[in-house]
Amino acid sequence: MQFVKGVGPRLASVFRAREIETVRDLLTFFPRAYEDRSKMRSVSELQEGERATVTLQVVGSRSIPLRSGKRMFEVRCVDPEGNPLALKYFHLPRGLDQKFKPGAQFVATGTVKNYLNRLEMSHPELSWGSAPSTAPSPVGKTNAGEGLPLNDPQAAERDFGRIIPVYTEIEGVPTRSLRKILWEAVQKYAHQLEEDLPLRLRDKYGLPKLGEAIRSIHFPTDQKSDGKSGENVIADLLAFRSPFHTRLIYEEFLKFELVILRHRKKLESEGAFAFGRDGGADALTALRKLLPFPLTGDQNRCVEEIMGDLGRSHPMNRLIQGDVGSGKTVVAFLTAGAVLAEGGQATLMAPTEILAEQHYKNAIKLFGGRLNTMLLTGRTGAADRRAMFARLEAGEPTLLVGTHALIEDPVRFRSLRYVMIDEQHRFGVEQRRVLREKGLADGPDGRKRYPHQLSLSATPIPRTLALTAYGDLEVSTVKEMPPGRSPVRTQVIRGEARRSAYEMIRLQVREGHQAYFIYPLVNESEAEGFTSLKSASQEAERLAREVYPEFKVGLLHGQMKPDEKQKVMESFQRNETQILVSTTVVEVGVDVPNATVMAIEHCERFGLSQLHQLRGRVGRGSAQSHCFLFTHQNAREATESRLEVLEETTDGFRIAEADLEIRGPGEFLGTRQSGGLPFRMANLVRDQDWLLKAREDAQSVLAEDAEFTRPENAPLRAYFEREGRRRLQHFGTT
Ligand code: ADP
Ligand code: MG
Repeated sequence: MQFVKGVGPRLASVFRAREIETVRDLLTFFPRAYEDRSKMRSVSELQEGERATVTLQVVGSRSIPLRSGKRMFEVRCVDPEGNPLALKYFHLPRGLDQKFKPGAQFVATGTVKNYLNRLEMSHPELSWGSAPSTAPSPVGKTNAGEGLPLNDPQAAERDFGRIIPVYTEIEGVPTRSLRKILWEAVQKYAHQLEEDLPLRLRDKYGLPKLGEAIRSIHFPTDQKSDGKSGENVIADLLAFRSPFHTRLIYEEFLKFELVILRHRKKLESEGAFAFGRDGGADALTALRKLLPFPLTGDQNRCVEEIMGDLGRSHPMNRLIQGDVGSGKTVVAFLTAGAVLAEGGQATLMAPTEILAEQHYKNAIKLFGGRLNTMLLTGRTGAADRRAMFARLEAGEPTLLVGTHALIEDPVRFRSLRYVMIDEQHRFGVEQRRVLREKGLADGPDGRKRYPHQLSLSATPIPRTLALTAYGDLEVSTVKEMPPGRSPVRTQVIRGEARRSAYEMIRLQVREGHQAYFIYPLVNESEAEGFTSLKSASQEAERLAREVYPEFKVGLLHGQMKPDEKQKVMESFQRNETQILVSTTVVEVGVDVPNATVMAIEHCERFGLSQLHQLRGRVGRGSAQSHCFLFTHQNAREATESRLEVLEETTDGFRIAEADLEIRGPGEFLGTRQSGGLPFRMANLVRDQDWLLKAREDAQSVLAEDAEFTRPENAPLRAYFEREGRRRLQHFGTT
């Protein structure tokens, strides 16, 4: 990095903190926007509020005392036609006043303001010397502090008379310095970067070379020759639609897909114990008969898909996704039964105690104790633990349900063959790895055997995201809900409508039903500046005293002790509490079929998928359920957050698509990948087409030449050798 002019040890460490470590990283730190400085403007045509670049000459300057006791520095200037414009400085960089001598010339870029009918700019970006063609005036080099103009002969070419890049700010690096560093790096290194895309693929889509793409993205050259006007060029650049952008987007997707598909192949080549043939399938059938209901078509299909995987001598790596209440857990239990029947142990890890306990009770209830199940959470007593550990180590075929207590050191299995993770995005890669490793075993041939793995998720994710985030997983989907449930009626509530919503809720509770009220925070101090947010504990009091004095109101939040939570939950389950005020603790799990109202306060603070998940807490019984989404947003803001999608549909996949568009992939991935997806240029929503092309190409490259030994794939081979260890390991889900 320090080979780049302008980057010394200090800047190198600032960059390193942003994961910009190599020249290549620097060159792929792309502009987030562009500014058109291709035209010098006349002051006479400037409008208030626009950003513009003008050539100016100093007429005079003065320091003006302000009422606050500070001083303001004002520079009176004129453009070449004699139109006046003033510059204002509230913090004058050291030494700058000396340079504003009458007659001095410079180019200024800034936002135009109109103050008492006179145009001005405050703290503009300056470049000394006159218009780009003229030689800059000789001004001695001082230090390169924030905003201090440099006497830089290249400034004319770099900063003016063109479309210039606008970068995301990096603290401690002035905008202009950053642009200058990129300029230097692009000039010197863009064309030396190794080309990672095979020529064949570049030709297939007519994509430009890497060096050319990088150069043009940072410092677009005049493309008016191809018939486009400057404005169109900017529009294409801003929309990431230029051929240069496309080339980099495709390249990112292709590399990503190659990594993830190779990872998947590697998993597929690993060994596992196979299940299902030796009594497992029969056991499953027997368990299924014990269920008080028939499985839905989707559940049956999922069971079959999983049994297909378990029957192979390679580890299953499958995700089962479907809305809350679609019956995923039942599928997990049944397939675990097949593994237990053949002497294997299984485990189901859930993100909260409430959920783990509920799974445990459900397993006992559904199968009348015929599925050997144990429960381990932070609340399990010492004696029970010891007894359980002894049974596990003795190899008893059992399903151990629990929280992250499962991954603690003392838990040892004798023959863990099947690992199931509920709400898998709630766990980190590391936690899931630890659990999986508890099932590592030596096969009779001395080779390692891995346990089969099933992840469960109630946050349906859009297809494009599944292809990337879960590209190394098989995915099963449960769309069909168990019969007898009617869709939850959903309404966004603003202003005065709140009162009638409260009354509708009152009617529901009078009829014997129950209601959830969900709040984003426990108490107001958690988020300074959001003091208007209603906090759960205060609201619980208000609801109990002022709105529903006739009902019993309970409170549940994440800072309560586990047994306090348990008490509150149980009281709600028994209908001793009719209204449960809660933070998002209830988001996952909890099954109270008698609850028919989900009221969510400050719903704009949640993602659409999260709201949808919360809504899934009701509508579990046969009675009509209701969801009230309270918001303080005005109509325009509300349109942007698209809350009405929730009024229109209960299809989790459609909601997820909308959420992805609004909030990006981070919302879906949670803690499962430290840095989220590794795209600098590509966008999963905007660039879906290119993702699909890249995936197809990656598949066909790997099918023909998995190790990149053919000469035409040499660039890919070089890429994997170069980057292999550094980035690629972040990608997979295991
Ligand atoms: P999920 O894990 O997808 O949220 P669960 O497996 O916990 O869903 O199922 C939710 C509820 O629906 C449970 O009470 C379960 O017993 C019940 N259930 C599951 N499958 C069916 C079915 N096919 N028919 C009727 N009820 C079902
Ligand atoms: Mg569940």
